[in-house]
Amino acid sequence: MKTKISIIGAGNVGASLAYLVIQAELADVVLYDIAEGVPQGKALDISEAGPLWISSASIVGTNDYAPTAQSEIIIVTAGFPRKPNMSRDDLLLANAKVVSEVVQRTAALSPHAIFVVVTNPVDAMAQLCLKVSGFERERVIGMGGILDSARFRTFVAWEAGVSPRDVEALVLGGHGDQMVPMPRYTTVKGVPVTELFTHERIEALVQRTRQAGAEIVSLLKVGSAYYAPAAAIFHMVKSIIVDEKRLLPCAAYLTGEYGVSGVYTGVPVVIGKCGIEKIIELKLNEQEKIDFAKSVDAVKSLVVKLGL
Ligand code: NAD
Repeated sequence: MKTKISIIGAGNVGASLAYLVIQAELADVVLYDIAEGVPQGKALDISEAGPLWISSASIVGTNDYAPTAQSEIIIVTAGFPRKPNMSRDDLLLANAKVVSEVVQRTAALSPHAIFVVVTNPVDAMAQLCLKVSGFERERVIGMGGILDSARFRTFVAWEAGVSPRDVEALVLGGHGDQMVPMPRYTTVKGVPVTELFTHERIEALVQRTRQAGAEIVSLLKVGSAYYAPAAAIFHMVKSIIVDEKRLLPCAAYLTGEYGVSGVYTGVPVVIGKCGIEKIIELKLNEQEKIDFAKSVDAVKSLVVKLGL
């Protein structure tokens, strides 16, 4: 029997993820959305790609929560994306309403599931999901750092003129304007970028990474990025289903790690069949500590606004 996962929100991110999961035959998918006909239409379209990818994974689209029951993973992508000149934080109240409802409904039907939260501002939404579901922290993970790190990898690879496969990068902290790209832990085939590029070039790559989501929003005019976000979620979902134990930067609820307690923020975690199986603590230098604290404070201010 294949794993059953539910994707809540059949918009750009949710549908792109569903397509990747079916193409890879990773799991059977329930695609839920509030908009009538949209999840059904997208699920039908993706089903019809099945024969071409030689995939026997199934997908159903629905406006009813019942088919999501007993899912192993619930991916929350429902809510509003930002518009040009909006920050992710501007979505806080509108998306909190959506996420509260979605989590309440799905957690009741799938009490053993792992939540992967994507809706922005993702660190605060993951914290809301933790509270509303009542699940333990290992089973509520936010997606942000994998995407930010993939963006940093892309820019470093272009700068170095090498394949992104040969670049490793790390971005810590909240998935917002205060995120913390980590040049000391960013390498081209093992060589830290701090030894390859000038300080000014690294700063430019760091700034582009921080603004990478906004850069796409301003080009698209309507909606925000979804191909790379869907690919990032795919890797989290795969690491859970296959129990790969990938080391990935994700939003996790900290209870003392990095000297932080009671808030979600992006840190390297090991992801396996139980969700977050380990949080890895890296040594930060003084400047990194200051930047990380700033980023955590930005998440805390959102969480306070939600009364969490
Ligand atoms: P989208 O507008 O294309 O899709 C959102 C979908 O949510 C729509 O189909 C809408 O009908 C649905 N929806 C709204 N209210 C709902 C409800 N109450 N129940 C069920 N479905 C509901 O947006 P998108 O581009 O897919 O982005 C989705 C979210 O993901 C946004 O908040 C966006 O900011 C966020 N996002 C996060 C990251 C990340 O790195 N964490 C990356 C990309 C996008």
